[in-house]
Amino acid sequence: MNNRAEYWKLLGNPLWKLKREEILERDGYKCKCCSSTEKLHVHHKQYHFSKTLQVFKKPWEYNNELLTTFCVACHDNGHKAYKVPTKYF
Ligand SMILES: [Zn+2]
Repeated sequence: MNNRAEYWKLLGNPLWKLKREEILERDGYKCKCCSSTEKLHVHHKQYHFSKTLQVFKKPWEYNNELLTTFCVACHDNGHKAYKVPTKYF
């Protein structure tokens, strides 16, 4: 994501909070990597950029299968290990 401040602001949106709850519930409030139940984040496996609109999808506009639950440690490690791919459509 090229504009982090903007992105973090979006994560404060009530629509993201709802989506996030839905994913956490689906994953049983556990990290999919280490099963930790603390400091959980919902991770995007891909980012989608619309070539026509010239914008990224909003964090809550992704299909649930592109979202997964990680604890903060696994989330950080994942982001250090690989870059989230951006799909252009
Ligand atoms: Zn973890």
